Amino acid sequence: MPLYEFECIKCRKAVEDSLKQIQKKINKKTLSDLINKYDNIYRIEVIDLENEKVLAEYGKKHSNSFLDFYIDEGSKLVLFNSENYRFTDLIYDESDEKKIKCPFCKSKKFEKVFSSFAFTSDLSTDMPKPDLSNLPPSVRGRTMLTDYIEEKDRPKKNR
Ligand SMILES: [Zn+2]
Repeated sequence: MPLYEFECIKCRKAVEDSLKQIQKKINKKTLSDLINKYDNIYRIEVIDLENEKVLAEYGKKHSNSFLDFYIDEGSKLVLFNSENYRFTDLIYDESDEKKIKCPFCKSKKFEKVFSSFAFTSDLSTDMPKPDLSNLPPSVRGRTMLTDYIEEKDRPKKNR
């Protein structure tokens, strides 16, 4: 099924810009300014991982989506409670793609994400087979590639 993942550029930029501000200055005012400025961000927590303490927090949890980022070489965790800027949609043809919009801000500016799910489903029609030619014959004999089933062995419904 052609299920694709997208990222809303506007919603993503709000989070990216917030991260930049937080890296400059970590305090409650920074966080409250950001939450007031961007309506897709509800709550931000900045946690010092080395000392295990909350450096700053602001806002009220409003969504079940959390985004976590590590700053200062991984010593601090920034946790956003926000609308997820990543969303999925089914696409059957080009006209479907024109109808896509961010479920939160309704923006039509988005980027297609090369998701692991799409990757797997794209390969399903032409699965690469492992190269067994370098294996010793004893191993090769026991390595079963089960994706090919002979015509006579296939269940009737697949014929
Ligand atoms: Zn959006």
